[in-house]
Amino acid sequence: MNTKVGVFLGLGANLGDRRATLRAAVRRIREVAADVRVSSLYESAPWGVTDQPAFLNAVARGFTDLPPLELLEAMQSIEGELGRLPGTRWGPRAIDIDILLYGAESIDQPRLVVPHPYMTQRGFVLRPLADLAAGLTLPDGSLVGELLTTVDQSDLRRVEGPEWAE
Ligand code: ADP
Ligand code: MG
Repeated sequence: MNTKVGVFLGLGANLGDRRATLRAAVRRIREVAADVRVSSLYESAPWGVTDQPAFLNAVARGFTDLPPLELLEAMQSIEGELGRLPGTRWGPRAIDIDILLYGAESIDQPRLVVPHPYMTQRGFVLRPLADLAAGLTLPDGSLVGELLTTVDQSDLRRVEGPEWAE
């Protein structure tokens, strides 16, 4: 019996060797999710606090046995591990891994809100998500490809195809 659930993870890095950190994150994600595929790699201007380096962003899709909170804990332990990579100064955003979607579930718990609350407003999430699943419908019925047309992508630059994670 296959009980794995399809999940989409939003990845972001803006400190140290951002690409190397994202590659290491994908390698670790492959340990807890099967058939992992990644989007192209994008560079985006910082969001919110603007006096910090640009972000590299991507989305990963995979299939996991882990229930939602265990997946969150697994992603947080990867964040903790990679935030302390030698050669990267400790900082708040060496790596950020968000659970964007967990199957078709809507989750609203103190530690975990899925779909990720801001994903429908962020070009740096929707653009890579659309690379993998433009035809995907969110739990509220909205279509990823349609949402993408409603957000600003002017400060988003595609820097590399999906081979960045190989
Ligand atoms: P952010 O990603 O919002 O910039 P953090 O990565 O520091 O900030 O996460 C803050 C908290 O967000 C985490 O402790 C986690 O419990 C919570 N959280 C809620 N929903 C999610 C989600 N879908 N994915 C990841 N973290 C989430
Ligand atoms: Mg986060």
